[in-house]
Amino acid sequence: MAAIREIIKLGDPLLRQRAAQVRRFGFRLEKLLDDMACTMYASNGCGLAAPQIGISKCIVVIDDGQGLIELINPTIRRAEGEISDVEYCLSVPELGGEVKRAESIRVEAQDRKGKICVYEAEGFLARIFQHEIDHLQGRLFVDIMTREVRDEKPEKLQNEAQEQVQDEAQNNE
Ligand SMILES: [Zn+2]
Repeated sequence: MAAIREIIKLGDPLLRQRAAQVRRFGFRLEKLLDDMACTMYASNGCGLAAPQIGISKCIVVIDDGQGLIELINPTIRRAEGEISDVEYCLSVPELGGEVKRAESIRVEAQDRKGKICVYEAEGFLARIFQHEIDHLQGRLFVDIMTREVRDEKPEKLQNEAQEQVQDEAQNNE
């Protein structure tokens, strides 16, 4: 059975290491991939790299809503165009950032059995590939963002709480 692993957060030195290539394929890798997918889905993420659960290996799972993609030892073979958009990361809570990425890419990787697969991706999916492959080099979106985007939710909740306090104060008058 797959398990939900703990996701490490910005500030943890494990996120900054360069991940090692996977050389052994087998049961342990397959279990790890299952756990990574389970952890990604449980966190409502669209991608997760092994360093994010404290394992410094070149392993990534992605699902942009069109099915699970597993990447072992991925490399970007071609990158074209440039597009800027807001990104979030499960290891960087409550903060987003605008990041410039290639618009379309070709990625070569191995699957869970070690077979070489080639992926062509563009737009949002290409962005996820690049974000996750960055994790394998110890790079986070906060290093390359052009603008910080704060999550507006906590502020909104705070405002609502304040309004409630004001309402109560009025009721007491
Ligand atoms: Zn991330």
